[in-house]
Amino acid sequence: MKIDVLTLFPAMFAGPLDESIIKRARADGLLELQIHNLRDYAHDRHKTVDDRPFGGGPGMLLKPEPIFEAVDALAGESARVVLLSPSGRRFTQTIAHELAHVKHLLLVTGHYEGFDERVRAHLADDELSIGDYVLTNGALPAMVLIDAVVRLIPGVLGDEESALQESFTTGLLEYPQYTRPAEFRGMKVPEVLLSGNHAEIAKWRSHEARLRTKERRPDLLR
Ligand code: SAM
Repeated sequence: MKIDVLTLFPAMFAGPLDESIIKRARADGLLELQIHNLRDYAHDRHKTVDDRPFGGGPGMLLKPEPIFEAVDALAGESARVVLLSPSGRRFTQTIAHELAHVKHLLLVTGHYEGFDERVRAHLADDELSIGDYVLTNGALPAMVLIDAVVRLIPGVLGDEESALQESFTTGLLEYPQYTRPAEFRGMKVPEVLLSGNHAEIAKWRSHEARLRTKERRPDLLR
């Protein structure tokens, strides 16, 4: 998969995407990631990318010209152009699975008060929010999306099973899990997990997942 990111803060991307599973995906050629500075597409002396909103109001908006020019240069024939924005549809595990099959993603991240509306209306294929809160800019949301999507690309996780069994993918939260020791400070691992009876273990896990979801996220059961 190829992912291009358009941002005013390329330096923020160093680190989180150079570790662990994402680092390996890049080294193995499963992810080709490129970070682009939006200012490179502004042509005046001051590399201006923002301006005041028509009609007044607080703050500055990202101007359309540099973003349109950058998308023209980077999207090619087939990129899916995704804006990161608190007004977008909520990014979920289902959307992460869907995006893991896209060949080329172009993530457009905002700053200040966000984007000129023409960017949303005429440039973006999709607009995604990572949750009902507002961050200072779209770099962290883009990294959250990249991390969630890339681990679902076939071949990225060592054990494909783990992605199939985890929270949200099954429609439920994950069941409780334990590792050695079987008893720690008087806290015991449920007997059934030590029994070796796989049918009973599967039944227990399914029951616990349902119970946990009902207690913590009843909305998922509806
Ligand atoms: N004025 C905008 C509003 O009220 O929706 C908020 C703009 S926010 C300060 C600046 C940028 O950060 C946005 O353009 C977006 O790219 C990013 N951003 C902030 N919160 C986000 C979220 N929850 N999901 C996705 N992107 C977000």
